[in-house]
Amino acid sequence: SKKAVLGPLVGAVDQGTSSTRFLVFNSKTAELLSHHQVEIKQEFPREGWVEQDPKEILQSVYECIEKTCEKLGQLNIDISNIKAIGVSNQRETTVVWDKLTGEPLYNAVVWLDLRTQSTVENLSKKIPGNNNFVKSKTGLPLSTYFSAVKLRWLLDNVRTVKEAVEEDRALFGTIDAWLIWSLTGGTNRGVHCTDVTNASRTMLFNIHSLEWDKELCEFFEIPMKILPNVRSSSEIYGLMKAGVLEGVPISGCLGDQSAALVGQMCFQDGQAKNTYGTGCFLLCNTGHKCVFSEHGLLTTVAYKLGRDKPVYYALEGSVAIAGAVIRWLRDNLGIIKSSEEIEKLAKEVGTSYGCYFVPAFSGLYAPYWEPSARGIICGLTQFTNKCHIAFAALEAVCFQTREILDAMNRDCGIPLSHLQVDGGMTNNKILMQLQADILYIPVVKTSMPETTALGAAMAAGAAEGVDVWSLQPEDLSAVMMERFEPQINAEESEIRYSTWKKAVIKSMGWVTA
Ligand code: ADP
Repeated sequence: SKKAVLGPLVGAVDQGTSSTRFLVFNSKTAELLSHHQVEIKQEFPREGWVEQDPKEILQSVYECIEKTCEKLGQLNIDISNIKAIGVSNQRETTVVWDKLTGEPLYNAVVWLDLRTQSTVENLSKKIPGNNNFVKSKTGLPLSTYFSAVKLRWLLDNVRTVKEAVEEDRALFGTIDAWLIWSLTGGTNRGVHCTDVTNASRTMLFNIHSLEWDKELCEFFEIPMKILPNVRSSSEIYGLMKAGVLEGVPISGCLGDQSAALVGQMCFQDGQAKNTYGTGCFLLCNTGHKCVFSEHGLLTTVAYKLGRDKPVYYALEGSVAIAGAVIRWLRDNLGIIKSSEEIEKLAKEVGTSYGCYFVPAFSGLYAPYWEPSARGIICGLTQFTNKCHIAFAALEAVCFQTREILDAMNRDCGIPLSHLQVDGGMTNNKILMQLQADILYIPVVKTSMPETTALGAAMAAGAAEGVDVWSLQPEDLSAVMMERFEPQINAEESEIRYSTWKKAVIKSMGWVTA
């Protein structure tokens, strides 16, 4: 067969909470040519604690790059066509490492981790002046979710971290910074940087001035010398210093939700997407304006695609537990052996029979921001079986999305006419149909679901000095879409939704810090 004519290729690291992937795209067609994926271990050393091993994460990146390149070789594609690499990553997850040895000084504290609940309580007592101090600068509510409080905890509780800071050996970063520093040479001239989107999730970053905020660093008592340099999301940060892609520039960096927004081509004010991964994140582009929510949403940096390009902001509805509830049914209850099996169980019954599952494992995020909530399964009868619970788990993901969509519609004034979706869970057709039924608007999925990686690849390929990808909003319009139309009537949908809200109220106030 004739060998396809290829444009320059761009690779993307997609380092998520549940897995790491490396994907290679054709920059001319946005076609995915090859990829490899490795699941990442999560450790739960105590109730509410969630950790990952930064070294395992780094190794998984190298492994995925190597395997993907091997696959390209089998396809007769020359890997020297790969002109740039983008990084997209789970956000907020916090790493502190020793710049002399390159060793992490503690496990990565994952965004879902709840150990900082009392740290947050103490900090909220000393907020200076008005309560808006943190929110007005960062767009974020003071919560266990963001990096600053995790870093505060590490400085207070881990001797090796404290000593390394005192001895000027410590570097802090979210996963992007840890990876870019390591991939660009680590102890030997690694570049210590992050991008504006990741920085905006630390709670130390001023989203108006786009700089680390001195007052915030004083408030959290974080030494500014350990923070990475903040760069745009699309520029050459450095070159790969090892592995099969040695010498290739790393030139794109976006937090995973921002990357998905870019990958879904949501470049216009008012365009939105919802990503269903470990958690669920609905982001709506608000253009150059910082819009502050009245309904529990976050204000965050969407992207800044080049040093001299303007910044875009987004309103975000964050749900902590979505795919994680499926993983929990697999790993903790063992009622399924793989995540995909949930669909079969749910299909068997087609209803939860009045069973409601609020998976508030890490408290509730948007729109409630209620750390005292814990998970509940309610409405059980003698009749309830594992299929109903499986169905209720899927329904929970849809109800939580409905809550953040409602908040978004109220904040934006113009209701969304359809929902653009992506992420690992969107392979589940029952979930997608349920989502359309519960939102009562169509749910639209692109046939190439790897939009997070695509966004990172686009940012990398468009960077000055790489210039192989021109960002064209119509790129995706040619792509096949799958649409799910609402099938039940609006009234039925409302009844289910209002019962869900009753269940949410029952989940709250379960624990106190
Ligand atoms: P992340 O980016 O957070 O690592 P992904 O987008 O890779 O997440 O999605 C993985 C999550 O989706 C896992 O939590 C997994 O349990 C869930 N998942 C994957 N496939 C399915 C499926 N067919 N049905 C339901 N959940 C699924």
